[in-house]
Amino acid sequence: MKLQDICGNEHAKRAIEVALAGNFSVQFIGPWDSEAGVLAEYARQHQLKSRAIPACPCGFWGDAARECTCSLQMAAGWRSKHFGERENYDLTIEVAPCDVHKIIGMLSGKLSEPEEAVLKRVDGATRHTDMHLDEAGVALLKAAIQQIRLDYRRALRIVEIARTIANLAHAERIHVAHLAEAIQYRPRRNNQ
Ligand SMILES: [Zn+2]
Repeated sequence: MKLQDICGNEHAKRAIEVALAGNFSVQFIGPWDSEAGVLAEYARQHQLKSRAIPACPCGFWGDAARECTCSLQMAAGWRSKHFGERENYDLTIEVAPCDVHKIIGMLSGKLSEPEEAVLKRVDGATRHTDMHLDEAGVALLKAAIQQIRLDYRRALRIVEIARTIANLAHAERIHVAHLAEAIQYRPRRNNQ
């Protein structure tokens, strides 16, 4: 994993740089669809003590778009659970989910350039690998990112699933219907 593959959160990447330079422990706090877990994993891979903490019970702690609506009691419970005296970390960084423009921007490099070899032979079968989405596909993906709060990795995975569905249909390009089917296979959360 490279830092450039982590969506947005330049301040968090800077914090990792500082932590690596001084061998500091680092913790990231963010909602489930933020890059907190990925950042912590990256830091661990580089031998830093690190962890990711889920956002508060309402899920919007650190969210740029919505206010935390936790009661004082809920917030206190969350704090005592995750911020005990034994849990001392040198650096604490709040991580927000990437917005849709950043996610689409990161994906566009992968989605707009057809691979050199359009056909690859996998297990003896011929498969198309073109990840390009047409305008309608990009619009649908944008809507999905916003409405069901897909993060960058889930969005990329959905396009990969759509590519597989297109292959099952022997389609050279990903059609909106393939993407729509791929989006249906997402995990469902209680509140959706
Ligand atoms: Zn909250």
